Order: sequence, then structure tokens, then C-alpha cells
Amino acid sequence: MALVKYLKSSDLKSWLAELAQKNSVFAPRYEGDSVIFAPFDPEQEIFIKNAATAPPKKTVFPQSEKLVDFKYSKDPEDLSRILIDAKENLPEGTAIVFGGRPCDVRGFTMFDRVYMSEEATDIYYKTRRDNTSFITLACDSTENTCFCNWVNSSPSDPTGSDVLAIPVGDGLLLKAVSDRGESLLTSKLLSDGESRIGEGEKVCKEAAESLSQVQDLSNAPQKLLEVFDSIEFWEDVSAKCLSCGACTYLCPTCYCFNITDETKGLQASRIRSWDNCMSALFTMEASGHNPRPTKAHRLKNRVGHKFSYYPDLHDGVISCCGCGRCIKSCPAGVDIREIVLKAIEFEPTVVEG
Ligand code: SF4
Ligand code: SF4
Repeated sequence: MALVKYLKSSDLKSWLAELAQKNSVFAPRYEGDSVIFAPFDPEQEIFIKNAATAPPKKTVFPQSEKLVDFKYSKDPEDLSRILIDAKENLPEGTAIVFGGRPCDVRGFTMFDRVYMSEEATDIYYKTRRDNTSFITLACDSTENTCFCNWVNSSPSDPTGSDVLAIPVGDGLLLKAVSDRGESLLTSKLLSDGESRIGEGEKVCKEAAESLSQVQDLSNAPQKLLEVFDSIEFWEDVSAKCLSCGACTYLCPTCYCFNITDETKGLQASRIRSWDNCMSALFTMEASGHNPRPTKAHRLKNRVGHKFSYYPDLHDGVISCCGCGRCIKSCPAGVDIREIVLKAIEFEPTVVEG
């Protein structure tokens, strides 16, 4: 049986401080009005009441990262030749992310299929992924924007985690999910948790039951293809969208990026930064042509990618973990659930000839 421990809430900071002796530890805390994942600071309160405003995506896939430094020099023997000396900036050290939610951490498995596939591996992503452990907080309550149960998950789904922490009494029941997770549960601050397993199961069951009724999305991939050419449909569902991009930046499964070179004299850095398919410039080509010229085209891509094209490439797995952040954060009230359900109900207009 998997190792199960118990941690009193009053010992949480001490435990994270122990883990921080050998690892970078990230935990959710307030910054302004938002809860974000930041390096653990014992002076700051850790926020574990609900999911953070932003997922811990940046701990493995930074918002902006320097991939390569390079400098140019001329060959003194042949001045027409330019030499380039390049140095990769691979991430170093190990990290522990405490307090991500099951949907957040499962989100990394969507990245894995793309950035660590048999065909190609992104070494920057892989290095961080391999060196990061996740102590995930099961949800003991849910919000009306949560729908992890629609996408084959649950408020206590351990997928992608190393330890699942379940709020029980005045503390956390810590269940090892992986060997790496077991190695994180050796502190003297932890007591045996087996006697509280039943309480943990009750918390998980009640949270699962508090979610809205599961909707069958099995034919969403096909129906989204059928509605692909109906611009009226996409104009209707995107009418309120402001193209602000909040939905993509806060999404734990959005993984698009842009690459830029920043030069200073003969030195330069290659930078990777998150990009956003809801932005008008995302697909702008050098010729001036834009294959996704309107927000209707862009929203079609965002929804279609998550609920149709990705599942088509990856054994039917929907690339949305149901965290509901895009719904909660959208200033215009666009609800991805409504769009998918509407697409499932869509019947093409038959033109009588
Ligand atoms: S958050 Fe809402 S308004 Fe902003 S781009 Fe996304 S759908 Fe549009
Ligand atoms: S599409 Fe929305 S609900 Fe789905 S994972 Fe992204 S932010 Fe969460």
C-alpha cells in the first residue's frame, strides 16, 4: 500500500522549509488581488483555500525564458566568415510545487504529449519536468466554474502528481503517488496517516459529488469538425470576446510560445515567451495575410484545438482539464462549456435546392 502520512496545518511551513533546504519550493500566495505560485517564503501566508488565480504552469514552462546565449565574432583569418559561439541555458536544480490542484497538475500531462513525444523532445521543458515534484492539493470544495468531471478527471485525481494532499481535520493527509513522492514524506514532522484514510476518502467523495452533472463530450471532436465551416456559429459564440487573451495565459494546458532574439552589439539571447492564439497577431504572416483574421476564427481554433484536434492526435484525450479558469477570468463572460455543448447540438442548415 502507498505510504500515507499526516501533517498538522501548524507544521506546514516548517515542512516546506525543510523541503526548501534542497529544492526550490513554490507555493500559492497572494500578490495584489491574485493568488499565484511564488518561491516559498516562510514570512508569507500560503493560500490553500481554493485554486490559485493562475496555475503553476510557469514553474515548468516559464512565462519567458532565455534558451541560448550567443555571440558573434569575425574570423581574423577570413573577415567574411562570422563565427557564432552559442551556449544553452539549461535549467538547473530540483523544484517542488506545493498546492497545485489536480486539474493544474494533470495539465502538464497535456504538455508532455507534445514536448516529450517520441518524435521530438523539448530539452528545456523536459529538464524542468524531470526535476520537478508535485505535492498536489485535492479540492475539498468546488466552484460553479469547475468541470473536471466532464473531462475524465476528479477533484482528487492524482494524475501527474507525486503526493496527493487531502485536507482532513486540521491538517493534510499526504498520500504518496510515486516513488519520488514517497521520498518527500520522510520528515519527522509527519505522523502515520493510515487511521485517517477513511476521512480523506469522505472529503474526496463529497467534493466529487458537489460538481455539476457530467456531460458526455465523447462526440465533441467530431461535432467541432462539423461546425468548422459555419462562420455564423463562431461569430455568435465569440461575439462578446474582447481578444484580451486572459483565457490562454491562465490556462494550465495552453502551451503556445514565440521565439525572439534580443541582440546587444555582437551578443544576443534567444528568448522563448508564452504566446496567445486569441491575439490577432498570433497567425499574422510576413506577407500581411492572416489566416485567422477575426476573433471568430481565433476562438474556433482555441476550442477546436482542445476538444477536437488534440484528442484526434492523442488517443481521444481532451486537452482541457476543466479547471474553469478561462470562464472565471473572462471579462466578457465567454464560457467554453457552453460553446462545446452548443457545438455538440449543432445541426447544419439544410439548403433546399
Ligand atoms: S478571456 Fe474572454 S474576452 Fe478575453 S480572449 Fe478569452 S474569451 Fe475573449
Ligand atoms: S480551457 Fe479553460 S477550463 Fe479548460 S484547462 Fe484551459 S482554462 Fe481550464
